[in-house]
Formats: sequence, structure tokens, C-alpha cells
Amino acid sequence: MTQYNKSEIENKKSKIGSEEGAVIKHDLKNAAATGDWRYMTPIVDKEKCTGCTTCMPFCPEASIIMKAYKSESTACLPAGRDKCDIDYDFCKGCGVCAAVCPAKAITMKKN
Ligand code: SF4
Ligand code: SF4
Repeated sequence: MTQYNKSEIENKKSKIGSEEGAVIKHDLKNAAATGDWRYMTPIVDKEKCTGCTTCMPFCPEASIIMKAYKSESTACLPAGRDKCDIDYDFCKGCGVCAAVCPAKAITMKKN
């Protein structure tokens, strides 16, 4: 698997909102819903997620959003830090998010 350094990740994040080839990035109004044909489903462990947003720019379907999550066990995180949440209407189950997550907070579950 390709490993990205910090500047490459920042570069990808800066491109959110632009189109790259056939991939629709963070433009859900132009994206096709995947329905329920997904073979694998990413499951986010909100207790493990640090809210780092690393996974967001890598999702080819712009299916990752950050949402507020209240947790007792991650009280050390900055107040109001959002956690990863997945829009299953558009997720195609590719597993990229699970592969890039530094906290191993996403696992792929076979449907
Ligand atoms: S499995 Fe693929 S499409 Fe679904 S949220 Fe993760 S990166 Fe995006
Ligand atoms: S799921 Fe992983 S990569 Fe995504 S925000 Fe949480 S810790 Fe970061």
C-alpha cells in the first residue's frame, strides 16, 4: 500500500472540493448513491477515533463527515472534537478509510 507523508496528506486535504478524473470528491449532489450492494461495510469505533480527519480526503466517495460525539473515555481530547462518521448512502465499501486510519479506528465488516 502507498504510504503518504504529512505534506502529501495536507496536499490531498487542500484539494477537497475539486474533481480528479472520474472520482467525485466531496460533491455529493453529483454522486450516485451506492444503495445496499456494498460487499464490505466500514465500522467506526468512536472510542478509538481521535478525530484527526486523516481518512476524509482519502475517501473516493466523499462519504466521511466529522460529527460531534460525546465520550467519557476520550475526555482528554480537545473539547468539541468531532469524530468520524460515514454516510452509508454513498460509501462503496472500498476500505481505504480503514487502511489509512492511524488509530485503527475503522474495521471492515463483511455484509
Ligand atoms: S469504505 Fe471507501 S467509500 Fe466507504 S467511507 Fe471508507 S473510503 Fe469511503
Ligand atoms: S477514523 Fe481514524 S483517520 Fe478517521 S478521523 Fe478517526 S482516527 Fe482519524
